[in-house]
Amino acid sequence: MASYFDEHNCEPTVAEEQYRQNALLELARSLLSGMDLDLGAMEFADWDQRLPPPASKKVVEHLPKVTVTAKQADAALKCPVCLLEFEEGETVRQLPCEHLFHSACILPWLGKTNSCPLCRDELPTDSPEYEEYKQDKVIRHDGNRGSTG
Ligand SMILES: [Zn+2]
Ligand SMILES: [Zn+2]
Repeated sequence: MASYFDEHNCEPTVAEEQYRQNALLELARSLLSGMDLDLGAMEFADWDQRLPPPASKKVVEHLPKVTVTAKQADAALKCPVCLLEFEEGETVRQLPCEHLFHSACILPWLGKTNSCPLCRDELPTDSPEYEEYKQDKVIRHDGNRGSTG
């Protein structure tokens, strides 16, 4: 029978999770400083080994634009990429995960990969290959249950 540890030792620890999250934010920030990221150049066939493709252009175009409220400005809400506080009345982009970013900060990022740099929530992509992989992953994940391989 599967022990608790068998089921859980593949899960990243909180520290690792935090590290990965910071690494993404670092990447997003390096875009801002004009560093040219070449994320797609790696030739791994397995998407596990590289960043997903850019977010779907359509989805990005239709990201809601929201106006920063006085309450949000008061709470010193910051753009996670450039770390500048939002100003009341400023127009920012909201991702489906409800995180807010400056257009200038998030748009170049979503042109590189499809996930929120803060929580890694994924947006749809224009890549049929990747969408297929995602489907596959769900099936594989479910199919793993009860099998010892
Ligand atoms: Zn910003
Ligand atoms: Zn997010």
